[in-house]
Amino acid sequence: MKLIADYHTHTVHSHGTGRVEDNVEAALQRGLQTVGIADHGIAHFTYGVKRRKFGDYLSCIENAKRQYDGRIDVKTGIELNLIGLDGSVDLPQGRFDVVVLGYHKAAVCKNLKTAWTFATGQLLHNDGKITEAYMRAIQRHHITIVAHPGYGVPVDYQKLAQACADYGTLFEINNKHGDLTTEDLQQAALTNVKFVISSDAHSPCHVGLAPNAIQLVTRAGIAPSRIVNMTED
Ligand SMILES: [Zn+2]
Ligand SMILES: [Zn+2]
Repeated sequence: MKLIADYHTHTVHSHGTGRVEDNVEAALQRGLQTVGIADHGIAHFTYGVKRRKFGDYLSCIENAKRQYDGRIDVKTGIELNLIGLDGSVDLPQGRFDVVVLGYHKAAVCKNLKTAWTFATGQLLHNDGKITEAYMRAIQRHHITIVAHPGYGVPVDYQKLAQACADYGTLFEINNKHGDLTTEDLQQAALTNVKFVISSDAHSPCHVGLAPNAIQLVTRAGIAPSRIVNMTED
């Protein structure tokens, strides 16, 4: 099995090490058909793309689309932050091909109640309110991919996966964050959700590579046909 697309990669516009073109070149070398640039949203306190530089971010991706036209499909993406229990996210103005949504500790939450619920989620095993926050975000916004479920905050994997299935959102198996266990993934797979594997590469040398995620998929017994970006070698 091999990846044919990697929708979730980072560049220097947030805290990756490569430029947009570097990720695209790396994706070409790996034999991918599609690569997505999905830098962190503006509410991420430390790494988010700065609001005043957001136009530069989008135009760099547009340039790469033109430059590599016919050779590889470059997707304009963003990795949004979940910032409210009501499903609020930090979606900026712009046209996106791929909208990734994740929880990140360094994102500025909408209010104190949200910040408290997220911060104490793991300690208090409070997955109910957090799963609901994800579900509301999926219902309210056009989310392509839920990134690294279970990273930083607990979730009910089956409920979240069902919401993803209902709204056509992909459930991510993230290579960088190892929070998802075999059992968690099997819970998600009880639904009819579709999965996507992402490198979440922060350096061009990791683009298109997801050995940990592929191992997890194999251990969990997930049928390759349920993963949208894999093909038989
Ligand atoms: Zn993330
Ligand atoms: Zn990421």
